[in-house]
Amino acid sequence: MRLACAEINLTALNHNLARVKELAPGSRIMAVLKANAYGHGLVTIAQNLVDADAFAVARIDEALALRAGGVIKPIVLLEGVFRAEDLAIAATSNFNVVVHDEAQLVMLENAQLASPITAWLKLDTGMHRLGIEPNQCHDMYTRLERCVSVAENIKLMTHFACADDLDDGKTTEQMALFFDSIKGRNNELCLANSAGIVGWPNSHCDWVRPGLMLYGVSPMIDSTGQDHQLTAVMRLTSSIIAIRDVKAGETVGYGSAWRAASDTRIGVVAMGYGDGYPRHAPNGTPVMIQGKRFTIVGRVSMDMITVELGYDDSVALGDEVELWGPNLPVEQIAQFATTIPYELLCNITPRVEYKYIQE
Ligand SMILES: *Cc1c(COP(=O)(O)O)cnc(C)c1O
Repeated sequence: MRLACAEINLTALNHNLARVKELAPGSRIMAVLKANAYGHGLVTIAQNLVDADAFAVARIDEALALRAGGVIKPIVLLEGVFRAEDLAIAATSNFNVVVHDEAQLVMLENAQLASPITAWLKLDTGMHRLGIEPNQCHDMYTRLERCVSVAENIKLMTHFACADDLDDGKTTEQMALFFDSIKGRNNELCLANSAGIVGWPNSHCDWVRPGLMLYGVSPMIDSTGQDHQLTAVMRLTSSIIAIRDVKAGETVGYGSAWRAASDTRIGVVAMGYGDGYPRHAPNGTPVMIQGKRFTIVGRVSMDMITVELGYDDSVALGDEVELWGPNLPVEQIAQFATTIPYELLCNITPRVEYKYIQE
């Protein structure tokens, strides 16, 4: 029997990429692969996203791993680089850099690179994380343009703070500020993350930056991927490794945090926080066995969870258990564990076996 396993459906991945194209037909696609492609496997995901126009990662090591894996498409470093040595590496490896503050601009001004590098000037329109002040745009742009180390096709970008909520006016404000700040320029523009792609068509412009939706997960609050015609890519499974009888009044697991109300049966599943399953998943968090929903009882431990089987004796030792996937949206598990699907996906640990399938 197979223990903790992340089955990655590459057909679903490409279906989701096609869905991005359908939603943003006029835009090029920069597929976001940071954090091990949201836990799906960096290089394999890149190799299978044949129709993406570029890739984006957060760290230079992620970009280098893609090149080492034979990936030749443009790669954008979403945080840019922080050291002059990395700028040199970025130039020789043909990475694009985001420029989000003056220190990075100065680094480019002082650099002597093997070949000019493509720069994405990032404006902070309200996220207040990375980006230059919109009123610095003209000045910084002019300085970038003068850099011999910067390629001619400077691109402009920003990032949304609240695009997952259609009722939040902030996205409209961010777009207005962005378009106002870059008025008169005809550079390539990039604003939309997955939530922008799904919820804010006016933000699509020349490039879109989908992450989460590529993996089949809804980027919007209060919906699942299915609601947006996306298909779950990851199916996290393991097996029942023991079945126990417990008597009414007995407790299960660390801290005796759950007590059986009546005589019942407990299935022990080889899946715990050591695999990336959220330790905070409470009693009542669902799992699927044999197409039926059961719920976790007791605390999640490092290597195991315990599931109440009750009087259902159709479940047997060795049965496969789905923790999330096509039959159990990761969005729902995230809600039970009071976190977000992003965190669950990228927390999968190296102990979990990966299995790539085509449908
Ligand atoms: C992670 C990230 C994205 C992708 O966001 P999703 O919500 O996963 O689509 C896009 N742009 C930037 C700057 C990011 O950091």
